[in-house]
Amino acid sequence: MKRFSRRQFIEWSAWGTGAVLASPWLGAQSNVLAPPELTIRGGTVIDPASGLHGRRDVMVRDGRIQQVGLAEAGSMGGHVIDATGLLVVPGLVDLHAHVGAPEATLGLPVDTLTAETGVTTCVSAGDVGAPDWAAFQRDVVDQLNTRVLAFLHISNRGLLGFPEPEMLDLADIAVDRAAETVAAHADVLLGIKVREGSAIVGENGLEPLRRAIAAAERAGGGARVMCHIGDAPGALSDLLDLLRPGDILTHCFSGLGNNIVQAGKLLPAAREAQTRGVIFDVGHGGGSFDFAVAEAALDQGLRPHTISSDLHRASIDTPGNPRLPWVMSKFLALGFSLDEVVAMVTTRPAGVIDRIQGLGTLAPGAPADVTLLELVEEPTVFVDTTTKRRAGDRYLRPAGVIRAGRVMV
Ligand SMILES: [Zn+2]
Repeated sequence: MKRFSRRQFIEWSAWGTGAVLASPWLGAQSNVLAPPELTIRGGTVIDPASGLHGRRDVMVRDGRIQQVGLAEAGSMGGHVIDATGLLVVPGLVDLHAHVGAPEATLGLPVDTLTAETGVTTCVSAGDVGAPDWAAFQRDVVDQLNTRVLAFLHISNRGLLGFPEPEMLDLADIAVDRAAETVAAHADVLLGIKVREGSAIVGENGLEPLRRAIAAAERAGGGARVMCHIGDAPGALSDLLDLLRPGDILTHCFSGLGNNIVQAGKLLPAAREAQTRGVIFDVGHGGGSFDFAVAEAALDQGLRPHTISSDLHRASIDTPGNPRLPWVMSKFLALGFSLDEVVAMVTTRPAGVIDRIQGLGTLAPGAPADVTLLELVEEPTVFVDTTTKRRAGDRYLRPAGVIRAGRVMV
């Protein structure tokens, strides 16, 4: 992902200069004097990609960020949203979610949840396999206002039959077809999803992961593997050793038994995996986030790269409340800074997606996907997925969502 210096950002954000600025992504000229269609006024903008954290006004035109700066009252145009007292951040990006038609058994109709999640972009983590991809893309992905990318499940079954295990029979894997599907839809498909849990893979051990990697390599184009862990079969170190740089370990702080922390010690293979570029993703879900594992891993120097929800029909009403802003709030309670937590759901997952120019930032020319958050300062109790509780003193609550310049919430 292209990055911009702080100085460039300030220049692009200069107000009322009369200059016609080149958009960094469109390759075209955007006239800063044209009136904005939408102004988000008076909020505290946090844009980790540029290092900006301060009071700014955000102006939007043609579905893109036009300027970020301090506007004169008279120059605010179009619809004005008063964001005083709120955080204004790039639209939240959820790297592990589940998406489906209204009648799906696991995936959610994500547009109906925008007010609760603040999410403008999410990644379907293996909801379908290759045989169902075309229909899923046409009937679900393309119908949503939320931007959806996806990992294709290595099993032809995908997760459409959840909670039936999808990987008991290796005959359900077709490496070539999965690879061809990912290669043919590389604009939307980031790679291959596999779930390595004992009850899911049965006697097949790590073979589904090996085949997922083979399919990703055959697809080419840097296709990634997203591997779910929990009670993975065999030694978790063997699984970790298979993951390639750029692959994603999701549910990294699972406490289901075969954890990255064992007998109080972080597995050396976990540290080695992170060092060589494996991406550690939270994937909270209904059963995959254990404060004790997280705290031990953090104490021993392993920090996750991205925060994701693993929100789906079976997790959405669990006590841990895996809605993305609530999971972000747990990381505030664990001692992460607000700026890092915002980065973990904006510029970092956008970098993993690595397909959409300007995703995860508020720089001029970027898609006008913006989330407004309220930082509520009050004593709060957070629960993980094992009923452990931790106290916090603040939490994040969505207060508005703009997607491609349109006010959704
Ligand atoms: Zn999931």
